[in-house]
Amino acid sequence: MAQNDQKPRILIVGAGPAGLTLALLLARAGIIAHVIEQRDAPNNLSRAVGVFPKTLKQLPDDLCQTLCAASHQMNAAHLHMNRKPLIKITFPDGDMHKVYGLPQDETEQLLRQDFETHGGTVRFSHHLSELSQTSGAVHATINDRLEIYHHVIGADGVNSVVREQVGQEHHGFTLPDPWSIADFYADNLSDDLSVWLLRGGHFAGAVPIGNNRYRAFSSHPDALAAIPIDVRLRKTNREATFHAGVRCVKEFQIGRVFLIGDAAHIHTPLGARGMNLAMQDAAALARCFINNDFTNFSTDRVAQAQFYAKLTERMRYVLTLKNPVAVWLRNIIMRGVFCIPPLRRRVEALFTSL
Ligand SMILES: Cc1cc2nc3c(=O)[nH]c(=O)nc-3n(C[C@H](O)[C@H](O)[C@H](O)COP(=O)(O)OP(=O)(O)OC[C@H]3O[C@@H](n4cnc5c(N)ncnc54)[C@H](O)[C@@H]3O)c2cc1C
Repeated sequence: MAQNDQKPRILIVGAGPAGLTLALLLARAGIIAHVIEQRDAPNNLSRAVGVFPKTLKQLPDDLCQTLCAASHQMNAAHLHMNRKPLIKITFPDGDMHKVYGLPQDETEQLLRQDFETHGGTVRFSHHLSELSQTSGAVHATINDRLEIYHHVIGADGVNSVVREQVGQEHHGFTLPDPWSIADFYADNLSDDLSVWLLRGGHFAGAVPIGNNRYRAFSSHPDALAAIPIDVRLRKTNREATFHAGVRCVKEFQIGRVFLIGDAAHIHTPLGARGMNLAMQDAAALARCFINNDFTNFSTDRVAQAQFYAKLTERMRYVLTLKNPVAVWLRNIIMRGVFCIPPLRRRVEALFTSL
């Protein structure tokens, strides 16, 4: 069953950011995992658009440089109350303190190329339908054929078959009102991240992803209409609404099966945690395989997912305040903090350390 006596036979289900990051880190350590993907071709949707330094630092230096070179580097975040500037968060100096704008399909392409360069292949049009395990092996049914592995990793996204097959529940909730995104080109928006807090407890934002291309996001069902300034729009690639959720499994390891990325946890897009945490889960699991020590994997990753779930929920609470007095107080506190240089620097450093 093993590729050789030392190396485990590993199946990664899903070639999204989580699966590809794990696959390439293992490949670089000499372990070529089997990667299957149910799509017949790479995903061409730009879902996540922000890569954070903490994620990049977990990748090999050369890959990190490739991702940075392909990205649009943001140097600050501008927060407005309607049209009026509220605070500017300037990211600290140095490459590894910025936020990098790169559409998810391009991130995935660079991760996949790296995996392939190090000897791996993604098997497209392969769907995992069933999974069962004994003390020594995992039996996976892929395109109606049985394959046997030492370990299986569910990196198969929010509707994970692996999660369902190992009997784990995605505990949490889904927000009742739809949020929205738009992928567009415009001439007159900032090169940095912009967020507008709107009356009525809504917010809108625009993330630059290079060459006048932006991702708008909003708690309102029409992200472009929610931006309270006149946007000189050149072209809109895509607009969509979705129901954001906050969910997490209780265990990331069930015997010989592991869950990472959206298969294990989801968050609202606030703070851009989804893809970043997915890649960080993958890097943590790669270290476990390389060191052959899985002792703390599940507890550490559950703790991380819960920490970010709380953080993003606090952000949502603060950004969507409706009561005019609470809004006034929030804005006074934000301005006050940013008038005190040591406090301002702490917030600025914290923003990109997440
Ligand atoms: C509209 C939108 C905007 C977002 N914006 C951001 C953002 O700005 N920042 C951020 O960090 N995150 C964002 N996210 C979240 C981010 O896209 C996800 O968190 C990220 O894709 C998770 O990566 P993953 O590898 O865990 O899962 P996925 O990217 O979902 O990949 C899972 C893969 O598994 C495959 N698969 C599923 N089931 C099977 C099966 N049975 N057999 C074989 N293959 C299978 C799927 O086809 C898919 O390719 C956004 C999400 C959405 C929907």
